[in-house]
Amino acid sequence: MIKYDTFYLQCPCCNSWLEGHTVKSEMVNKSVLYSDGKTLNDNFITEPQKIIKCPACSHWFWVEEYKEPVVTYVKPNVPYYNWNHWRFFGVHFNSVEGRMALVNHYKGCLEVIKNDKEKELYIRRMMWWAYNDLVRNNYQMKLDYLLSGKMSFNVWRKNRRKQEMGRLLFKQHHDEYIENIKTLLLLVKGRYTPDDEEYEASILEIIELYREMGEFKEAQKILNTIPRRTHYIANIEKEVKKKHDFVFLVAG
Ligand SMILES: [Zn+2]
Repeated sequence: MIKYDTFYLQCPCCNSWLEGHTVKSEMVNKSVLYSDGKTLNDNFITEPQKIIKCPACSHWFWVEEYKEPVVTYVKPNVPYYNWNHWRFFGVHFNSVEGRMALVNHYKGCLEVIKNDKEKELYIRRMMWWAYNDLVRNNYQMKLDYLLSGKMSFNVWRKNRRKQEMGRLLFKQHHDEYIENIKTLLLLVKGRYTPDDEEYEASILEIIELYREMGEFKEAQKILNTIPRRTHYIANIEKEVKKKHDFVFLVAG
């Protein structure tokens, strides 16, 4: 059974065709959620990539929604670039260097968009996640992860080295990371009122941003105003109490 929908879109500058995929939501086997809101369905990020850099002419363009007529599901009868050529700007996402390159791409995007707050919010959130990707799976370094049998010893050892490198880079860029999430917080704060559908999700994001900034008192203050304790909120609160400021795996 085909788990993916394949779509095609055209660069508005040079008319090259690009191919991409979306996971069919009804066929997802495994969903993974992290504390910063990044969600993976069968290892694919659920957040659509709104900025595309054309692999043929390097033109940057914005795709707000992957819907017709911007995309088509009809295969063009000319050659096209496959997903890996433009997804995450073509970086090799599995390597630590690739993750850092992604951060730098987002920095470049910020320079291009000038004063568009909507776009800035999207880019800063993506940049936040890209920094966090450096340390996102640090839990796999632990011995109990090896003992759980999810990785062979050799794979675990190699992965552990990658996690350590990611951690080092994350620490080296920590000032920039904080600067980015502080600005992101300002963009998210006050954006929604309790009447908006997005309000609850934005409150959770604000709590998480405070936590990752190390502002545990502020995070707790907002947590105290939330009557409901979902699995997600309970986990965030636990980490706030422990004064942990790293992204962590919530479910998956
Ligand atoms: Zn192009």
